[in-house]
Amino acid sequence: MGCVTNHQRFILTYPDPILRMKAKAIPKVTKSIRDLVADMFRLMREEEGAGLAAPQVGESLRLFITEARPDDGVPERVFINPVLSKLDGDLIPYDEGCLSLPAIRGMIRRPTFVAIDAIDLDGNVVHLESDAFPARVWQHEFDHLDGMLIIDRMSPIDRLRTRKMIKELEREAGL
Ligand SMILES: [Zn+2]
Repeated sequence: MGCVTNHQRFILTYPDPILRMKAKAIPKVTKSIRDLVADMFRLMREEEGAGLAAPQVGESLRLFITEARPDDGVPERVFINPVLSKLDGDLIPYDEGCLSLPAIRGMIRRPTFVAIDAIDLDGNVVHLESDAFPARVWQHEFDHLDGMLIIDRMSPIDRLRTRKMIKELEREAGL
């Protein structure tokens, strides 16, 4: 994996252009992928996120992780080259934030049910379905692999409400 770098990783924030790229499939689970995943778990936990996608740490690869939810019996998980399907159910609004958009939150409407197929860190095929919180996280993290952020899915009202904060992030980046 020549495209995996070994620099000190950190969470990129909007408007970093890597967050807007379509991420590339991972051909093989190598040691550098396992190292990347370890870095991602460390960073996700430092920031107390529910999930984290590889583009958010500067690697434009189709990979995301999700945090364990012991109360719901959900373990921590790694999804490599994930595919979502069977999106179904009512579009339910839910208050979402994103580690790449500090302090910005909005009500995002997503289908309640989704199935996911992916490879795990051992190279095994995983198939899961959810109509609960994991379905929400999978869809949020999957969006990152296609360069999509919550600000793209916000209602016009939320976009207006958060406009100043978004502009401030752009100004800090020198845009
Ligand atoms: Zn996010």
